Amino acid sequence: MDVLVLTHAWRPLRRVSWQLAFQWIFAGRAEVIENYPDRMVRSAHRAWPVPSIVRFVRRVKQRFRPRKITFNRRNVWLRDEGRCQYCGHGVPSDGFTYDHVVPRSRGGQTSWENIVVACLPCNQYKADLTPEKAGMRLVKTPTRPRKLPARGAAELRWRTGMPASWRDYLGSVAWWTDALET
Ligand SMILES: [Zn+2]
Repeated sequence: MDVLVLTHAWRPLRRVSWQLAFQWIFAGRAEVIENYPDRMVRSAHRAWPVPSIVRFVRRVKQRFRPRKITFNRRNVWLRDEGRCQYCGHGVPSDGFTYDHVVPRSRGGQTSWENIVVACLPCNQYKADLTPEKAGMRLVKTPTRPRKLPARGAAELRWRTGMPASWRDYLGSVAWWTDALET
């Protein structure tokens, strides 16, 4: 059971476990905006409805900046802002390929400095070549990021299976971030 967390300004921030949301509520840091209609947690003496949406009572500053950014597919995708680093097209976070800039067959490492997001056509076209040999240019030189773009805008969009009550908040994100029809 996940809880949608809103900022003080009512913007979607992230999703967290209900246990973490309860800690914030009991500590006075977050307030309940909406509960799940049919979910309760019980202690020996009491029962509480489980929130589906909470909001921070005060402005949160940099609270979620990780101390060390893990090198994983998701963070590579965030660093590259969900765009193929050869052609610049957007690729979905759950269906992208990553490319070794210097191919492994030529000694390339699997590291922040040598992995980029690539769309399937670019990945296949480049194959086992360096960008120079393939005649391709990187959008930007990959480096280890010191911070990542906010997860909210990049990832939090309402999808089937999410609680219906989240839709009001996540819909507005999609409105800002989805491509416009032309
Ligand atoms: Zn591409």
